[in-house]
Amino acid sequence: MVAALSPATCSRLVLKIGSSLLVDPNGEVRRDWLQTVVDDIAAARAAGQQIVIVSSGAIALGARRLGLAKGGRASLEDAQAAAATGQIALSQCWADLLAAKGMTAAQILVTLDDLEDRRRYLNAAATLERLLGLGVVPVINENDSVATEEIRFGDNDRLAARIAQASGAQAVVLLSDVDGLFTADPSRDPNAERIPHVARVDSRIQAMAAAESSSGMGSGGMASKIEAARIANAAGAALVIVSGLHDHPLARLAGGDCGTVFAGAETQTARKAWLAGRLTAKGRIHIDAGAAKALTSGASLLPAGATRVEGKFSRGDVVDIVAADGQTLARGLSEYDAQDAMRICGKRSEALAELLGYAPRAALIHRDHMVIL
Ligand code: GLU
Repeated sequence: MVAALSPATCSRLVLKIGSSLLVDPNGEVRRDWLQTVVDDIAAARAAGQQIVIVSSGAIALGARRLGLAKGGRASLEDAQAAAATGQIALSQCWADLLAAKGMTAAQILVTLDDLEDRRRYLNAAATLERLLGLGVVPVINENDSVATEEIRFGDNDRLAARIAQASGAQAVVLLSDVDGLFTADPSRDPNAERIPHVARVDSRIQAMAAAESSSGMGSGGMASKIEAARIANAAGAALVIVSGLHDHPLARLAGGDCGTVFAGAETQTARKAWLAGRLTAKGRIHIDAGAAKALTSGASLLPAGATRVEGKFSRGDVVDIVAADGQTLARGLSEYDAQDAMRICGKRSEALAELLGYAPRAALIHRDHMVIL
């Protein structure tokens, strides 16, 4: 592990706690256990570490209070009502426990859209910066009560990775009901081995994540944790999946030999990291093999290399760049709206001015506004 990115010693850490750890099967907060987490947070803060908490549990807590079936996840309407009800209890609990240790809590509820929109993302980042500067402990959750099915994180793993990016944290710790990524599902296969370190999230790692375990209470399985690792790593932050089934889980993590660390060695500009971490795109531009090769060696995407354009987007919107084999190779900000992009698709640079009726831009997607995934 890169020392500077160690969750135990880094200067800013995002700590995500899942629903199944926070809430017992009867729908009550597991206060005794949570107290040990808060003790760890107090110790980390005393050692100079700033901590941002991403806390799940609103839906599980609210479902119990409202008597809703399936832990409040039977429908989006139920989840929204449960979240609205449970969030009050959840934030009260955090405020009480942190205050008892001399810390001030602040609550931020965000939707996917808040972080996908660059301006709102920067606003959230500025608020986090100010809160941390004031010595406050931000407690964050998705604003489930207003999020709709198509535009929600749905799980707090990826939200935590996005928050790490927005807050400039060096590491993310996902407290989970499993002690990291295993070669197979440890609850079914006695030969499953924990993978202590992952240098890069590739297709082999994604395949292992498919053999996931899930408590049924939260919504983030191993696949969403791996996606979170990819987002965090793209922003230069390490991500750790580690068991929270023990008391004092952060102290245990600092002791070593547990969990899986996804090292975040790669760093990109903040804008590129934001792009790579986005979960939605307005359209897709398909490209040929020549363009794919050029892109991976650092070139811009020219209209000649595009084969097909899908979606409705304006100039400056985020689009995915898809290779001939269907893989999303890169993502970038389009220099043209969808209509014009379609008109110039596959055309040589010399032909563009006449086709468009105005001076063409240097590229369809400029390399400064593009990130290879
Ligand atoms: N935002 C949800 C809640 O507070 C949890 C999402 C998740 O399961 O990760 O209940």
